[in-house]
Amino acid sequence: MNELAARCPVVAIDGPAGSGKTTIGRLLANSVGFLCLDSGLFYRAVALAATRGGSDLHSSADALREARALRLEFVPDLSGRYAARVIDCETDITDDLFSSDVEQAVSLVSRIAEVREVLLDAQREVLRGGNVVALGRDIGTVVCPEANLKIYLDATLETRVHRRWIERQGQGNQADISDVRDGIVARDRIDSERATAPMRVASDAVTISTDGVMPEEVVERIKGLMVERSLISAT
Ligand code: C5P
Repeated sequence: MNELAARCPVVAIDGPAGSGKTTIGRLLANSVGFLCLDSGLFYRAVALAATRGGSDLHSSADALREARALRLEFVPDLSGRYAARVIDCETDITDDLFSSDVEQAVSLVSRIAEVREVLLDAQREVLRGGNVVALGRDIGTVVCPEANLKIYLDATLETRVHRRWIERQGQGNQADISDVRDGIVARDRIDSERATAPMRVASDAVTISTDGVMPEEVVERIKGLMVERSLISAT
């Protein structure tokens, strides 16, 4: 095992939109006292800047300029354990990261290799401190192949669409369920077919289906795997 990873444990949780990464990752991080790094927020911040700045979403140069200009700060929640708010140059942009404009733009900017390169450094900076649960699409394969434990969360398209739709309604967004489905299918396709760091199951990942399972049960299962690998002690 990589020595740095052993001293600074990282749990990678990858998976498609709506697979439960954010809910499960945050619960897990809070439960074991790790920081939660949600890498999707980085890509969403670039997409937000690009849509606001009227950038051409297919232009590497435009997207790269936006990615380089970001000055992101992650503010922990009251427990001090995960990034709850995202600040760009003193402006809290968290709530804007989940707008439908950002959802449509995010996979387009994420497939640009130069953007990924800039964001890779920012993510590794956080991981260097260790004790992190990192969420994304390429954490176990590219960002942190030496992660001590790799989980790939999955669920059927039906489940994922339904979860996202309920979530949007909770945010006061009366999205049509067929639009939510189209958005997820499009994102899955672009994220898994892109040339750089496509969404993949790492060869050494444990795949967990979240269909019909309570998030807490999945968290307990992951904690069991962390105990087995001596990342936390059994309580
Ligand atoms: O996880 P979330 O749905 O917030 O991610 C939003 C988008 O960011 C994904 O659809 C994907 O295009 C991009 N992303 C990525 N690599 C990551 C995390 C997110 O390409 N590690």
